[in-house]
Amino acid sequence: MFKKILIANRGEIALRVQRACREMGIKAVMVYSEADRDAKYVKLADEAVCIGPAPSAQSYLSMPAIISAAEVTDAEAIHPGYGFLSENADFAERVEKSGFVFIGPTPESIRIMGDKVSAKQAMIRAGVPCVPGSEGALPDDPATIKRIAKSIGYPVIIKAAGGGGGRGMRVVHTEAALLHAVQTTKAEAGAAFGNPEVYMEKFLQNPRHIEIQVLADNYRNAVYLYERDCSMQRRHQKVIEEAPAPGIPRRLIEKIGERCAAACKKIGYRGAGTFEFLYENGEFYFIEMNTRVQVEHPVTEAITGIDIVRTQIAVAAGEKLPFTQRQIQVRGHAIECRINAEDPYKFTPSPGRVTTWHMPGGPGIRVDSHVYANYMVPPNYDSMIGKLIAHGDTREQALARMRTALAETAIEGIKTNVPLHRELMVDANFEAGGTNIHYLESWLEQRDR
Ligand code: ADP
Repeated sequence: MFKKILIANRGEIALRVQRACREMGIKAVMVYSEADRDAKYVKLADEAVCIGPAPSAQSYLSMPAIISAAEVTDAEAIHPGYGFLSENADFAERVEKSGFVFIGPTPESIRIMGDKVSAKQAMIRAGVPCVPGSEGALPDDPATIKRIAKSIGYPVIIKAAGGGGGRGMRVVHTEAALLHAVQTTKAEAGAAFGNPEVYMEKFLQNPRHIEIQVLADNYRNAVYLYERDCSMQRRHQKVIEEAPAPGIPRRLIEKIGERCAAACKKIGYRGAGTFEFLYENGEFYFIEMNTRVQVEHPVTEAITGIDIVRTQIAVAAGEKLPFTQRQIQVRGHAIECRINAEDPYKFTPSPGRVTTWHMPGGPGIRVDSHVYANYMVPPNYDSMIGKLIAHGDTREQALARMRTALAETAIEGIKTNVPLHRELMVDANFEAGGTNIHYLESWLEQRDR
C-alpha cells in the first residue's frame, strides 16, 4: 500500500480523500491555493504545499505546480478528486510519466471517455445502449445534417463532443432552426472546450437521469454498485441524488449494471467510474461516462456499505477488488442534498464568512463538508460547500431523516440552498418518487408565479 498520497483538489472532496487516507494509515499531502490557506483540512494534513494564487488556472489546474508538490513531498500517488484535473488525460499521463501513480483509470480510458463521440462509439461496440443519434461527429455539409436530423426525428439535441458540466448543448425543435443551432454550438464548443466537434442525439422528452456506479481493478474484475437517480437538476446540474432509483424494476437495473461491468472489462477500465443514462419508458440510453469519483458517491456508499474512495486507492495500489458482484447487497435507501453557497431561489453565488455552522446528526445522517463556523467561502470556486446524506431502511425513513436533518441545520453569514431543500423534501411529487429531469425547473417556475 502507498505510504503517502497527494490530494490534488480542495473543499469537501479533499477532506473526503484525506479521511480515507487516515483510515488506511496513509499520509496525506494537501495542495492549496492562497484562497484556501487557512482551511482546517489544510492545517489537518500531514503536509501541505501552496501551489499558487486563488484563480484555479494558476493553482488547482496547474499541472507543473501539482507535480512539483508531489516531487518535493515524496508522494507516491495523486488523487485528483472530481472537477479540476480529474478527467484530464494529459494530466494523468504527466503524473505517470513523472513516476507517480494516478488514482484513476489509464490516460487512454480518460481520453476515450472524455470525448463524448468516441465514448459513445466505444459503448456501442461494448453493447451498451445509447441515445439514437448521429454516427460520430456531424459533418459540415448542411444537406447531410438535415438528413441526419430527419432520420432521428425532431426534437434533437446538438451536443459538444468535448462538453461537460451541463454546457455545450442545444435543443432543436424544427428544421428551420437546425443549421443555426449547429453553427452556434460549434462556435461555443470551440471557444469553451477547444474542440468544435458536435454530434446529434434524439432529444428525449421526459427522461430520468439514472447512473450506474462501477469499480474495476487491474485484473479485469469489474462490478457495478447499482444505480443512483440524479433527475433533480437545474440547468443540467444535479441538486438532489438518491439510491436506489424509485420505481425502476430491479431486473432492469441488474441487466444494465451487468452491461456496464462487462463494458469495463472489455475496455480495460480500472478504478471508479459512472455510466450515465437517460431512462425513459423502461429503456436506458447511455449519455456519457465519468472517469472519476462523483459528488454523489456517498448515497451508493450508504446503501452498499462499500467505501468507494478507499477502493479507488486500493486498486490503484495494485490490489484486487475485495468483493465479487454477488457479495454486493443493497440495504435501504439514501438521499443526498447538495448544499450550495447561493441564493436558494435566484441561485446567485453567496460567498463570504460563515458565522454559524450547525450541522445535524443522529442515526443515518452523514455530513461531508470542509466548512466550520468562521470559515470564509472563497468566491473563486464552485458554490457547493457540503453534502447532507440521509440513509434509512426505506425511502420514507430516509426522507423523514433528511427532513429532520434539514430542520436542525443552521448556517448563517452566507445564503445557502437549505431552504430550497426543505421545501423539496415535502413536495408531494418528489415524495412520490420518479420525477423526471425537467421536474425541478418547472417546479421553480411555478413557485415564481
Ligand atoms: P454534461 O457532461 O455536460 O453533464 P451530459 O451528456 O451528461 O452532459 O448531459 C447532462 C444533462 O443534459 C442530462 O442529465 C440531461 O438532463 C440532459 N441531456 C443530455 N442529453 C440529452 C438527450 N439526448 N435528451 C434529453 N436530455 C438530454
